[in-house]
Amino acid sequence: MKKHLQFSVKALNSFNIQAIAPKIFFPTSLVELTELANKHFTHFYVLGEGSNTLFCDEKTPVLIKPSFKGIELTEDNDSFYVKVACAENWHDFVEYCVNKKIYGIENLALIPGSAGAAPVQNVGAYGVEVGDFIDKVSWFDFSQQALVNYSNAQCKFSYRDSIFKQKLNGRGVITHVYFKFPKIWHPIISYQGLSCLPPPVSAQDIMQKVIQLRQEKLPDPKVLANAGSFFKNPMVTNACFKALQQKYPAMPFYPQSNGNVKLAAGWLIEQAGLKGFKEGDVGVHEKQALVLINYADALGQDIVKLAKHVQQQVMKQFNVQLQAEVRFITQQGEVDSASVGKG
Ligand SMILES: Cc1cc2nc3c(=O)[nH]c(=O)nc-3n(C[C@H](O)[C@H](O)[C@H](O)COP(=O)(O)OP(=O)(O)OC[C@H]3O[C@@H](n4cnc5c(N)ncnc54)[C@H](O)[C@@H]3O)c2cc1C
Repeated sequence: MKKHLQFSVKALNSFNIQAIAPKIFFPTSLVELTELANKHFTHFYVLGEGSNTLFCDEKTPVLIKPSFKGIELTEDNDSFYVKVACAENWHDFVEYCVNKKIYGIENLALIPGSAGAAPVQNVGAYGVEVGDFIDKVSWFDFSQQALVNYSNAQCKFSYRDSIFKQKLNGRGVITHVYFKFPKIWHPIISYQGLSCLPPPVSAQDIMQKVIQLRQEKLPDPKVLANAGSFFKNPMVTNACFKALQQKYPAMPFYPQSNGNVKLAAGWLIEQAGLKGFKEGDVGVHEKQALVLINYADALGQDIVKLAKHVQQQVMKQFNVQLQAEVRFITQQGEVDSASVGKG
């Protein structure tokens, strides 16, 4: 199996953070995954393309970067079935589907990262979540040393969440994701920016528009190193929301089916006066307050410090705790992102 020692991960994370991996493995088969399972590493991290990952220390734990490739397509009268290997690039996969006239995930174009990471936080954008089209996920479980299939229901998809981020976190590797796309397609264009598309709307139109909107709104990590939305949109109780709304009538809000209310993290950060805030090599993007930037050669700790500052300011003004969407990886493995604002 391909492996490196003392390997720089600077090119393997979209924050462009310099850190050294003591060991990094690139398994491409179940035999190689079994070999890794038998090593019983105390601390390790499964890395995709590193676009939702913050390496906090100058050293990383052992890294496992699954490198399975390939796409397989079958169909019946009603649906297309597509099996994609974890190391395929997500956006290339979206383009592959749309070019083959397989529709459903066009709204998720240009989300950086690998196909294998997409189910982990149930990536979503422009009114669609990847879990809407996942049939099952193949998971290599390190303790069982076997492949286990998780059905859509077993994946427990919800807002930026799944079983892979919760119970199964750090216990195995997603090798393949199986999609089911019904041949009867309904465009999702209710989201702001897409509703202006003139009918009849094709999936190609949606994909192009999403690409255009994302290029206008979000900084390209290759130009300004970042990991997309750094914080999740916070959920608050209805009572908490009502109190805030009295004070801030213009505050955007999204009522949820369970009675709670989702707030816009970017708006809270902007109101806290942090949009465009810069300190040393790090800062809050001047157009997108939800995006933290490494402008030059920041260390992971510089980003952690900035994230804490943002959380503290938002807490001070709104009494709302922001939780990171980005995964915090120390030398000892992942740390709870919710704890980053404390201490
Ligand atoms: C500019 C920008 C825009 C973004 N926009 C969006 C957006 O609109 N919507 C959205 O939801 N996200 C968005 N993101 C976040 C990011 O694109 C997604 O989280 C993506 O799925 C990360 O993929 P990755 O391969 O880079 O994952 P990584 O950062 O490498 O890993 C993320 C998590 O997945 C796990 N993981 C990765 N591969 C595997 C595997 N094969 N098996 C098991 N676990 C694995 C890792 O252990 C980690 O916990 C954005 C990021 C950037 C930089």
